[in-house]
Amino acid sequence: MRISDVLRVKGEQVVTVEPGVDVTRLLAVLAEHRIGAVIVSRDGKRVDGIVSERDVVRALAARGAGVLTEPVSAIHTTQVRTVEPDAALEDVERLMTEHRFRHVPVVIDGTLRGVVSIGDVVKNRIDELEAERSSLAGYITGERDHP
Ligand code: AMP
Repeated sequence: MRISDVLRVKGEQVVTVEPGVDVTRLLAVLAEHRIGAVIVSRDGKRVDGIVSERDVVRALAARGAGVLTEPVSAIHTTQVRTVEPDAALEDVERLMTEHRFRHVPVVIDGTLRGVVSIGDVVKNRIDELEAERSSLAGYITGERDHP
């Protein structure tokens, strides 16, 4: 399965914030959309960074509540790993496991096309495995034509 297949079902909607918005506003955006990370972008198209709930937690633990009035650019990650839509789902799974993050922006020619989260990866892998299981069961019990 390719990332483009995941986006076809999930849609290409991406939530972005500008680097200058404060962390309190960021928390409102995360809560409103029920998501764990947003892309930081000055124009809503290019990826300037990514900021997740973990960045907020770490900054709060390190610097206290004053963080809430700091700009997102004070806590975001700027070295963002991205993938293109033709990447395989397994490659994104590997990327997330290796680097211990749960979100990967999808880009074409540097322009945002979607975001894949670990929830999307797990859901699609389960669907894939279930389809495989059911096809094998059908094959074994003779309920389906041989492949
Ligand atoms: P997450 O597990 O996605 O909440 O993110 C954990 C940490 O990795 C945070 O510091 C994020 O800013 C950072 N992060 C999340 N996604 C990416 C990504 N695709 N590339 C680089 N860093 C990321």
